[in-house]
Amino acid sequence: MAILLLAAIVLSGCTISQTKSSFVSGGTFSGRAEGYKGPISVEIVVNNGAILSVDVTGDDLSYENARLAKVEITQVVVGNQTLEVESVSGATATSDAIVNALKDAVCASGMDVKYFIDEHEEDFDHAAGIEHDYDYVVIGAGAAGLVAAIEGAMQGKRVAIVEKLPFAGGNTALSGGEMSVPESDLQIQYGIHDSTEKMVVDMMNGARGTGNEALIRVLCENINPTVQWMQEQAGIDFQERVYLVKGHSVPRTMIPIGLGAGVVERLLTLAEAEEVQIFYNTKAIDLVVNQEGRVSGIFVNQGTEVFSINAMERVIIATGGFGANVQMRESYNTRWPSLGEEVLTSNSPGSTGDGIRMAQEIGAQVLDMAYIQLFPYNNPASGKHYYLDTIRTNEGAFFVNREGKRFVNEDEVRDIVAGKILEQTAQTSYEVFNQSIIDIIADDPVAMEEVERWLKQGVLIKRDTIEECADYFGINKFALADTLTNYNAYSKRGSDPEFGRLMDFGALDEGPYYMLEGVPSVHYTMGGVAISEDAEVLDKEGNAIPGLYAAGEVTGGIHGENRLGACAVPDALVFGRIAGGYQPLQKSLDN
Ligand code: ADP
Repeated sequence: MAILLLAAIVLSGCTISQTKSSFVSGGTFSGRAEGYKGPISVEIVVNNGAILSVDVTGDDLSYENARLAKVEITQVVVGNQTLEVESVSGATATSDAIVNALKDAVCASGMDVKYFIDEHEEDFDHAAGIEHDYDYVVIGAGAAGLVAAIEGAMQGKRVAIVEKLPFAGGNTALSGGEMSVPESDLQIQYGIHDSTEKMVVDMMNGARGTGNEALIRVLCENINPTVQWMQEQAGIDFQERVYLVKGHSVPRTMIPIGLGAGVVERLLTLAEAEEVQIFYNTKAIDLVVNQEGRVSGIFVNQGTEVFSINAMERVIIATGGFGANVQMRESYNTRWPSLGEEVLTSNSPGSTGDGIRMAQEIGAQVLDMAYIQLFPYNNPASGKHYYLDTIRTNEGAFFVNREGKRFVNEDEVRDIVAGKILEQTAQTSYEVFNQSIIDIIADDPVAMEEVERWLKQGVLIKRDTIEECADYFGINKFALADTLTNYNAYSKRGSDPEFGRLMDFGALDEGPYYMLEGVPSVHYTMGGVAISEDAEVLDKEGNAIPGLYAAGEVTGGIHGENRLGACAVPDALVFGRIAGGYQPLQKSLDN
């Protein structure tokens, strides 16, 4: 439903509230309620306002229907981010108790329970706040949207962001916030020789020749100045280390303190200081095109109301990708056997491709929609990324399947590893490591917090012997013991005749051993709306659509068929800033 609007129409009511910023970075929270045969306790893991996993325990689970209720309710809550769950027949009281305990846990997390109950839309406090006209209207409060809004505000523009969820952050806040930055101060400090040109070559190689060199060049040339700007303006700090990420020819990846959630928190503070107005629970549903053919505003939906907001200069689409939209995934996917419900996603529930649809409806060109990236290793309960998985490539863990056998070079790029896991029994895999690796990462609080959390959740197991680990997951223990012996021999001789892995780390000689279960999940969608080097949205003939800009994961045609790791946040930051009016470095040198 594209809307050609002659004048701003207010369909019902014109004031909406600026609901309180409710950014919740994350943690584990408990809740309790009385059940049919005893108390029920739950533990939820929350990140960026989403419930990532649910663990239910208690005496009330002693009968079969109650255990069924536990499984069904957990799936619905995590899958649909709702506490509106139907009772399981034969376990009504237990179902109610689980939901009540979940509400208790959500309260403990600091989030408002009403956001997980469908009727919450009735409850919005529609206080005054939103104005009718802004210079820039930004759709989406992830990295791209926040940076675009801040840049615009710093240039004196009146800027509003509409965000459909009750919190900011999108996929950015769920990510590690990794940023690949050539010629950074940290690289200079460590004597690492790098250049923007080298990163352009790496990204083009990563895309296997299908990337857009001009846009990649803009990204590489402008990420260092943008990171410096964020350090100065937003106070974003980084770990004192540069990481080597697969596909990059030198260590150039910086990790912000507080990961992606930390970046979002700082950007929100800066946006507030720059008087950017952010309206939560406010979903953009259509773009408005005026008589001259300029995109002049948007229609939004808040609760039961639909109304328009005018953008005097720019509408900036920063709605992220479509990894959480199963229907879109399925209709565009040509690479994977299936991307239906059974394949989870590491994405925010907000990543449903809205911006792509809205832009397409007014004639925007979309590119590379079939290129959907799976991240190989994620929590099988939630589909969310394991930070802990960094040990695979940095410290040297290996994968086995249910048959206890290795099946891939664990250092391979994401799509190869993910593809191989999907070929295994139950499309699942187990990462094997031992205490010596835990000892190496012992001073990394994020990793150690995960170890504790996953042990508790049961997706990670620690046992004295590898056979005991195998028994826990129902894996062939004899085959696994052989696999371990071979792996250790390959490590000692420094070569892997089976899969050609670079064996430049220690053998896993002694217990205790650990095994972590993981599955591939949809991580990033490379496709989206076509943009120019100035972040203007292009039509099918390649002309800029007046008034319309886009940045971040909603755009397509930059990374081609494969985005290199640690390049998504830089993409969102650089093009977000350009969409907000920043003059890209190369351009300003030319002028
Ligand atoms: P990027 O990395 O490109 O900034 P993110 O996933 O981090 O992308 O952020 C995108 C944000 O856009 C999310 O917070 C998401 O909820 C929001 N969003 C998506 N669709 C809409 C929409 N129709 N209206 C308002 N906000 C939206």
